[in-house]
Amino acid sequence: MMPVHVNYFGTERPKEGTYYLVAQEGLLMHVRNNWLDAVIPVTKFQALAPAIPGAKLKLPPIDALVFAKTVAFFRKIYKLHQSEAAVLLHYSKTLGWEVTIPVQQVTEVTVHKYEMTERLEGYDCVGTMHSHGYMSAYHSSVDVKDEAAFDGIHITIGSLQHFPQFSMAAEVVFRGERFPLDETNIHGVQPLYKKRRERERPQEINFSFDPSVLSGFEVPEAWVRKVTFFSNYTGHTYWEKRAQLVNGVSRPSRRRRHAQKSGMLNQIAETGKGLQEFFLGEDKKESKEQK
Ligand SMILES: [Zn+2]
Repeated sequence: MMPVHVNYFGTERPKEGTYYLVAQEGLLMHVRNNWLDAVIPVTKFQALAPAIPGAKLKLPPIDALVFAKTVAFFRKIYKLHQSEAAVLLHYSKTLGWEVTIPVQQVTEVTVHKYEMTERLEGYDCVGTMHSHGYMSAYHSSVDVKDEAAFDGIHITIGSLQHFPQFSMAAEVVFRGERFPLDETNIHGVQPLYKKRRERERPQEINFSFDPSVLSGFEVPEAWVRKVTFFSNYTGHTYWEKRAQLVNGVSRPSRRRRHAQKSGMLNQIAETGKGLQEFFLGEDKKESKEQK
């Protein structure tokens, strides 16, 4: 059998012969023959039986109510800011599943900054969930980079305009290795149709849940207040942007000028509904009136 050298700091590597070398880079082979001295990475052992990488969660399925509350929170933030949001997932063997809302700064397309340090007594922090607003759920390159430093479950929820249908991409990450997590790991989630291939990026809504599980749950104001919106596009905070719309500082469109005249923008500011959603409603009304 070929010797193996484990390359601890301060150890001396064999002076001659060919050997396996376990080092910072993984498994290598130091080959020495009559005409070559080389160190090469080892990725295959043809003589050995295969072992397939994989990960299986040893936790019970995520609680249906905890999951539904989180999606309802994402929906609320989406309606308010048209933005993303993030939560931390916690699990306790005796207390079950729980979710906490970190203090966070969000934009339309990112959770810009958030505190990952919040822990609950008696619970393990086992992952994160974040939303993609109206966009479909997938793990963006930014998500992959962030999650590489956070072993656990990572679930992205998107297409929130279709609530209680949505798109979902769920994965388990360990030391940067990513494994798909199927929906059987979440109670109360129904697939709308099967993805053709595993890990295929879902382009449209693919899951739903029964909103009656929420049974009158209102997203707490304290959760909403943890989220500060910062617009990517104007460089203004949500409140500044809203004031700008109400006061008409930026050059308004024809439709917006009309809205300003009729006092509609004040109404929008009061309802807390998104501008887009408000106008969508108006579009529907207008097209009905035209008929
Ligand atoms: Zn994301």
